[in-house]
Amino acid sequence: MEFAATKAWKEAVLKRVIYTNIPDAADSPAHDTVLYVGEQVVLDTLRRKYRNLPRQYVPLPNGLVAVQSTPSLSLGVFAKRAFKPGDVVVRERPFLIAAADIGFDPSAGGKKVNPLIGNSVLGEILKSAERHFLPPNRDGFAALLTDYSLNPVHDLMKDMFRSLFRIGEKDLETSGVYKDYRLVSRVASRINHSCSPNVVCHFDEATFTFNAVVTREIQIGEEILTTYCPLELPRAERHRYLLPYNIDPCRCEACEMTDQEGSNQRRKMIYDYDMHKVIQLSPRKALKELIGVRNAIEEENLQFLPVYPMVLQLMGSFWAKLGKSTLSEGLQKQADLYHSIHKSGPSR
Ligand SMILES: [Zn+2]
Repeated sequence: MEFAATKAWKEAVLKRVIYTNIPDAADSPAHDTVLYVGEQVVLDTLRRKYRNLPRQYVPLPNGLVAVQSTPSLSLGVFAKRAFKPGDVVVRERPFLIAAADIGFDPSAGGKKVNPLIGNSVLGEILKSAERHFLPPNRDGFAALLTDYSLNPVHDLMKDMFRSLFRIGEKDLETSGVYKDYRLVSRVASRINHSCSPNVVCHFDEATFTFNAVVTREIQIGEEILTTYCPLELPRAERHRYLLPYNIDPCRCEACEMTDQEGSNQRRKMIYDYDMHKVIQLSPRKALKELIGVRNAIEEENLQFLPVYPMVLQLMGSFWAKLGKSTLSEGLQKQADLYHSIHKSGPSR
């Protein structure tokens, strides 16, 4: 029974695999080729939405970051200079994009397929994908595979499942095809997890690029970190989420903090905070609460959360009501910066 279901899944997956090399618009450097695995309709939708998809993008200067060994001897991405909020540290076209639920079987009610059979089929897909790459991407992709010596296919799939983004969401809602995609990328696939990340990741549809944007000050030599789990959860629950990524346990700065009880409470408070209620309070009362939330966010280093600019903006408007225009303008400016980091993605 299980075998039949898996066979159906295998057929469904292989039927959905479409290879499309997407060269860069004007001068077509070979390393800008993207191999697209998914539904052709997604690409068509994007082409309707953006003329000349993909648009050219401005590459970042060389040497901003480097892939190096971490203290635990895996690989990570490290800053080669200092960065401030809003800076883009990684911008690249991914090697491969795949539907996020490629490992789940729709014919078995969306159940995850037998991991052994699943991995062998995904391995077939990856091998066949590799044959479609132009040489520079083939080398880069192979380097990603060989760096993981234990179980390349499994580890690569794990990597693919790290960076999630939504693509063509609105147009596709009615057509019933996959909306969530994950990518494999030269540098982005190396970004490790922290429960207090320092970048937020965006996929820019128009230029077909992955972008990591800084959410708090990064010193030279510091590791670039994103998140693989919901951050408002208490530590024990975060750790359960992280097990499939072979992170056991997470030793990030938030998890190593001595006051775990306090950290858990701050995270819960940030998440449960009722923005609608605070609007009805007097400016002084509201400010007292909002300052508490902002301090909790900054203490937990969660400027990554979209709630951060909302809190700053509300603080600005309450200070304005009290006639403190300098304070208000400063907060509004900071809120605008974080809104742009969270909403529109990187500046181009
Ligand atoms: Zn952690």
